[in-house]
Amino acid sequence: MASVTLDAVSLRYRSGTTGLADVDLTISDGEFLALVGPSGSGKTTLLRSVAGFLAPTAGRVLIGDRVVAGSGVFVPPEHRALGMVFQQHAVWPHWSVGRNVEYPLRRARVPRAERRRRVVEALDLVGLRDHDHRDPATLSGGQRQRVALARALVARPRVLLLDEALSALDEPLRDRLRLELHTLTRDLGLTVIHVTHDRSEALALADRVAVLDAGRILQVDTPAALLERPCSPFVARFLSDATLVDGYVADGRFHASGHPLSVTCREVPTSAGDACAAILPPAVHVDSDPDGAAIVRSSLFTPEGADLVVEWAGLTLRARTVGRRHRVGDRVRVHVSSATVYPTSAADVEPARAPLGVGVGVGVGVGSIAG
Ligand code: ADP
Ligand code: MG
Repeated sequence: MASVTLDAVSLRYRSGTTGLADVDLTISDGEFLALVGPSGSGKTTLLRSVAGFLAPTAGRVLIGDRVVAGSGVFVPPEHRALGMVFQQHAVWPHWSVGRNVEYPLRRARVPRAERRRRVVEALDLVGLRDHDHRDPATLSGGQRQRVALARALVARPRVLLLDEALSALDEPLRDRLRLELHTLTRDLGLTVIHVTHDRSEALALADRVAVLDAGRILQVDTPAALLERPCSPFVARFLSDATLVDGYVADGRFHASGHPLSVTCREVPTSAGDACAAILPPAVHVDSDPDGAAIVRSSLFTPEGADLVVEWAGLTLRARTVGRRHRVGDRVRVHVSSATVYPTSAADVEPARAPLGVGVGVGVGVGSIAG
């Protein structure tokens, strides 16, 4: 197995579009890293740069200690010892399952007896032991994706790269494959980079999650740290459905602009002034009150209670309730117990270089306001 390092990697497409902008990222040997970000944020570009299908226009890519791209070096994909699985299982329909899985070994001129042994082993790993001679057309989508995974693993790669590998599958199959993938890669001690647009999947699977936007890494952290200490309002909103509110800090409190919302900051930002508050849904408390200033606009069932959208004097807040599901149209009172406050100068525009800890988030405040 091996670590993967991106050292100041930038990639500009010929069209002039920025694919990656000055990305620094190290994935440790045996680590499972998930890469999330909105569509077009550069996830696939990053993965393909590691795989060797794209060459960075600046910076270096290393696998283990070896430079595979940059500094005048470019190692082609077939010599990087990586396995890759895409969203659309690229399984050749005119070949049997076994022949599909065997392909990377044929290319590497592995002797026939050894090939057979390793194909059986790889099919076994993905739970397709007796499917060697099957026609791929007779398999389900999930089974075909397993074939793609077996083919990625058969040459015993140092790193496994997954680009939306589970995204085309329907639940509950997807959930099952997610569990299997986690167990399998942890058992093998594989270094994994898993690209997904599904943030809950990223948080569930990964040792660390990297959040990408516009070709830049905004934050790399453990799932718990990302949820507790998002480095920017963007990350708070992207991962946790935080409501972002513009305002200012004065006397240790955050005050929303033109709105009654006010939250006491426990740690005061160094300078009072313009600020942006990220309010996480669990910090928004909602009580039924016929005279309340807020109204429930949406109420989705969750096992714990409800996922609400509440409109309060022009501010639309996401709330998560426990043990209670309000109805759409209910009048409510809103109490915001905490918010992470960011100086406006740092909000959204200042992506930190990875890896990054607490960053610019200042304080979780406790305050209240009746709405
Ligand atoms: P993601 O996988 O996060 O959706 P991509 O890495 O595919 O994002 O794309 C990042 C940016 O690069 C987007 O703006 C996209 O339009 C652009 N892009 C991707 N592939 C190409 C290409 N072959 N030529 C030009 N621009 C591209
Ligand atoms: Mg993509």
